[in-house]
Formats: sequence, C-alpha cells, structure tokens
Amino acid sequence: MVNNKQKDAPHAQWPEAAQTLIALMHAQGEVARLSEREQLISSLLVSVNAVLWAFNWETRQVLYVSPAYERIFGRSAGLLLADYNQWRDSIYPDDLEYAEQSLAEVLRKGAVEDREYRIIAADGQVRWLSDKCFINRQDEPGQPVIIVGIAEDITDKKHMETELQRLATTDVLTQSSNRRHFFECAHREFAEARRHGSPLAFLLLDIDDFKLINDSYGHPEGDNVLQRIAECGRGSLRRGDLFGRIGGEEFAAVFPGCAPDMAVQVAERLQQEIQRLRFNHDGQAFSITVSQGLTNLTEADESLDSLFARADAAMYEAKRQGKNRIIAA
Ligand code: GH3
Ligand code: MG
Ligand code: MG
Repeated sequence: MVNNKQKDAPHAQWPEAAQTLIALMHAQGEVARLSEREQLISSLLVSVNAVLWAFNWETRQVLYVSPAYERIFGRSAGLLLADYNQWRDSIYPDDLEYAEQSLAEVLRKGAVEDREYRIIAADGQVRWLSDKCFINRQDEPGQPVIIVGIAEDITDKKHMETELQRLATTDVLTQSSNRRHFFECAHREFAEARRHGSPLAFLLLDIDDFKLINDSYGHPEGDNVLQRIAECGRGSLRRGDLFGRIGGEEFAAVFPGCAPDMAVQVAERLQQEIQRLRFNHDGQAFSITVSQGLTNLTEADESLDSLFARADAAMYEAKRQGKNRIIAA
C-alpha cells in the first residue's frame, strides 16, 4: 500500500543527487516556459494595434511603452521614456486640456475608460485614440502611484462614425439636412431661444410649379433644380442657422437670434438669388420662382409646432396670392 506522504512526494526516497537533478530539470522547464511566455507576450504586443503604457504619476515618468507607440505616434519610444512631454507634444492642441484632465481623473476614480482624444503623428496625420487608464493598485502603503493604460488607434472607427452620422442626417440628393435632423436641431434651437428670450425666425420655402419643371424637362433636370436651390439656401445662412430639405420640393430654415426685420431681409435676398438662377435644358433656358412663409417666435409659442403651422399657413397664403412671394405671419 502507498502511504499519503509517498504519493505527494514520489521522489522523497531518492538519493540527494537525483533529487538535485530533478530540481534542476524542473527549473530549466520553468525557465523555458517563462521565456516562451515572454516571447508570446512580446509578439502580442508587437501585433496589437494599441499602445500599452505605464506612468509614474509622482515623478512624471513613462516607465513602459509598448512597440505600437512608435507605429501609431511615429515617435521614438526611447525619447518618450526619457521625457514625458513627448506625449503632450503629440496631442492635438484643442484636445490637450481634456487629455490631461481625464488622465488626472484616474486618481479619483481608479479607472477612466472613456477617454478619446486626437494626436498629430510625426507624419502630420491626425489620429483618434481611445486611451483607457487605470491605477495600478499597490497594496503596500508608500508605494508610488503607477497609472497603466491602453491607447487604441480608433481613427478608422471615428471616420466611419462620422460618415454614418452624415448619412443619417443628410438628404442624399441635395446634401442638406434631412427632415428628421432638421427638426431635431430646430427643436433644440427653439428651446434655447425660449430659455434666453432671444429672437428666432422660422422659414418655409416651396418651389412654384415644380411638377411642371419635371414634366417639361424631365426628373433629372428637376433634381438639378433642387440641388441648386439647396446651394442657394445654404449660401444665405450665417453660422448657427439651420437649413434642411423637409419634403420633395420643400425646404425650411431656422435663424436663431435673428430679429424679424432681419429675417425678412434674408428671405428677400434668397428669393432674388433663386430667381436669378439660370437653367438650360437641351437649349431651352428657364428659371424658377419660390414661395416663402416666414414667422417669428412669440411669447405665446409653446412649441416649435406652432411656428411651423404659422409658416406653413403663410406659405400657402403666398401660393394663393399668386406664388413667387414672401408672406410673413
Ligand atoms: P405649387 O406651385 O403649388 O407648389 O405646385 P408644385 O407643382 O410645385 O407642387 P406639387 O406638390 O403639385 O408637386 C411637387 C412635385 O415635386 C411632384 C413630385 O414629383 C416632385 N418631386 C418630389 N420630390 C422630387 C425629387 O426628389 N426629384 C424631382 N425631380 N421631383 C420631385
Ligand atoms: Mg410642395
Ligand atoms: Mg411646389
């Protein structure tokens, strides 16, 4: 029968030399395993498209940075290890304050996982990073505060997000805001204007006899007219104004901070510019006119809908009176 002690240490009865040999063989195996693991980790670090880093908060020293740093930042890792300002110098100037503040937040929170900022790589390219950071907790008191992080290059993802956002908010034909996005922004501007008691004008614009344009010159020519009108509309805007295509041949604009008389001037200028547009289809020249309904925010307006309804009624009144005119209500 094998007793428990023998089972746990089967070599316990062997001569001392044999035991030493076995211990040596174990140690060598361990070394081989460690070096295998080290190789594995280092090949992982080379291939992953993220920079792993460690930073001593008190001495402001970068203690470690993985090989992807040189690839993503285009700078020497040696220089960064020697001088932490290399990191600050890479950051896109508008994002520097945020990058530093969010790094400092890790001291309070223990982890900051939603940091995104831009860097300017050595080749001049702007790259977006998601730079998560964590405090590397030391159990012993008096130990230095070490922050570790992982900075991932998310430039492609950001570009894709921007493109998706553009597609979701833009009318494909005219490249203006689509109806949904226009009204989303308009509701926001309405709420702002109400809060601050500032003026706001709302304008609707509908092309006159557009069906006739399609019928006379074809649908593609109609599309061209829509595109040129959208250009005109966008061209007449100031910063902060909104413009969108809210229906087939219907556009709308919001002018935040714009007093009523100024809004009339903007609408009149737009009316003239559209009238001056010249189109040519197979040698046939033609021009177009539009009807506009204009209104302004009043104390009684509880929601954007009441402005929209007033502008709509004014626009139809313009049609009723013979088109090619602006009616303010
Ligand atoms: P009114 O002066 O009263 O506004 O008459 P209208 O002909 O402009 O208005 P109506 O509502 O009768 O016709 C609008 C036309 O707009 C009908 C539709 O085929 C056309 N339309 C809508 N969307 C598009 C588009 O994306 N491209 C083109 N080419 N035509 C469009
Ligand atoms: Mg219409
Ligand atoms: Mg029309």
